[in-house]
Amino acid sequence: AGAARLYREGVDAVWVLDSGSVRRATANSSAAWLVQFYSSWCGHCIGYAPTWRALAADVRDWAAVVRVAALDCADEKNHEVCRAYDIHFYPTFRYFKAFTKDFTTGDNFKGPDRELQTVRHTMIDFLQNHTTEHRPPACPSLDPIQPSDILSLINNRNDHYMAVLFESNSSYVGREVILDLTQFENIVVKRALNTDTAFLEKLGVSSIPSCYLIYPNGSHGLINIGKPLRSFFSSYLKLLPEVRKKSLSLPEKPNKEENSEAIIWREFDRSKLYISDLESGLHYLLRVELATHKSLSGTKLKTLKDFVTVIAKLFPGRPPIRKLLEMLQEWLANLPLDRIPYNAILDLVNNKMRISGIFLTNHIKWVGCQGSQPELRGYTCSLWKLFHTLTVEASTHPKALDGTGLEGDPQAVLQTIRRYIHTFFGCKECGEHFEEMAKESMDSVKTPDQAVLWLWKKHNLVNHRLAGHLSEDPRFPKVPWPTPDLCPSCHEEIKGLDSWNEGQVLLFLKRHYSGDNLVDTYAV
Ligand code: FAD
Repeated sequence: AGAARLYREGVDAVWVLDSGSVRRATANSSAAWLVQFYSSWCGHCIGYAPTWRALAADVRDWAAVVRVAALDCADEKNHEVCRAYDIHFYPTFRYFKAFTKDFTTGDNFKGPDRELQTVRHTMIDFLQNHTTEHRPPACPSLDPIQPSDILSLINNRNDHYMAVLFESNSSYVGREVILDLTQFENIVVKRALNTDTAFLEKLGVSSIPSCYLIYPNGSHGLINIGKPLRSFFSSYLKLLPEVRKKSLSLPEKPNKEENSEAIIWREFDRSKLYISDLESGLHYLLRVELATHKSLSGTKLKTLKDFVTVIAKLFPGRPPIRKLLEMLQEWLANLPLDRIPYNAILDLVNNKMRISGIFLTNHIKWVGCQGSQPELRGYTCSLWKLFHTLTVEASTHPKALDGTGLEGDPQAVLQTIRRYIHTFFGCKECGEHFEEMAKESMDSVKTPDQAVLWLWKKHNLVNHRLAGHLSEDPRFPKVPWPTPDLCPSCHEEIKGLDSWNEGQVLLFLKRHYSGDNLVDTYAV
């Protein structure tokens, strides 16, 4: 499978956590932690990684106070721990206060957007709202001081520099500079507000933000810098004579393990469907994605039941897997309870069925869904393929859903997929986009064939939207599909423009996503 890595220990400033280190790191730590639980198959997480790396580098000097970390929930060895932390969607941002005694899943960390600056400001807000019990000892006061405090600082000689940043109430510059200097000795940084204009005039402060400096020898005055920006203030103060970086003994980074897994490329044929992709996807869906929900009831349980019914009736794979899905469906249908712990399903799939010789792979092996990098393609690719096979099976086997309560409805499969995506798919933004498309036009589907074409069209729209995105695998560029080499008759030229022949596309989809096109190469 090749564990995917968006962040590299020692290369990026991001603290890379895993199942072995996350508890140790976040429990009873002397620093607070901001952890991004991500999934390396989630395109938004891939797109966001440069911002997270830049943020971690930007606040590297705050490490004694707060640390920026990441944990990959798609890595098999982290599945359990992401369940324990109750992570349902990716990315999820959690803040862990310093000195937490009991296990906590952290505080949800949400800002108006995920821009670097917004996240940095929100970190400061969190730090400032700590009770003393949870304040990281290395964190200086971030509250403003009063004019009277400044006067007494000026009048009493110190053996170190004192810097006071004057700024408006809404400015974060002062607090950022305070945090930037936490690892430096012979200097203390404070902030003050611009409320007392008479006092500001007395000190000669005519614009904000500006920095007033009291030298160890008692002299004092405004400092002169090129631009009133955080980076200018911080670097000026760090470069003062006698100001030095403390040899701070940060704890060892908890995870030293190197990514030594070699990527083995499996040759495959793009015109085929691979059992290994569908089964690996099913494994992930049943054992990881759904398993992030500790218990299910109400509409969630109904969504799961309908989805399992649809895959039990329409999954075109190998007999034992179809048997497994059928047993699961029957078990769910006969459930006397209106709430079930998900562990009961895991027990059924992992233990009870295994005893009767029915076994779904518990390893991921992508073939047609391999990415040229481990973080590309994989699960979402297999999910699309699963969805297409379901719509195709429903149109080629019109009686397959008889007796399930879903028969006779041409939209049954699409609506079930839609509810699954909305309720369970870990990529929240993907789900929202899909929901928008569904709202707009799913109602127009009147036959099972139209359902096949609807999903094909929408998938192409998604491809179009994602072309050029960071999550695009350069070896598998996002282009209108099927390409002319796969289906020459699907393409026509109308007035010089490449156009679809939808009748031919439908025939192609029905062939491509049928059980007859499934091959078991690489499937064990
Ligand atoms: P995929 O798009 O995953 O396609 C898998 C395979 O399906 C292709 O290799 C090809 O064989 C076949 N295929 C391609 N196009 C079609 C078509 N039109 N009809 C039938 N078969 C086709 N990622 C984001 O970053 N943002 C999103 O908003 C987003 N929304 C998503 C919504 C859903 C419902 C799903 C399942 C995934 C979504 N993703 C999103 C993930 C994204 O669509 C891709 O799955 C991912 O980028 C991997 O791409 P891929 O190259 O493997 O091809």
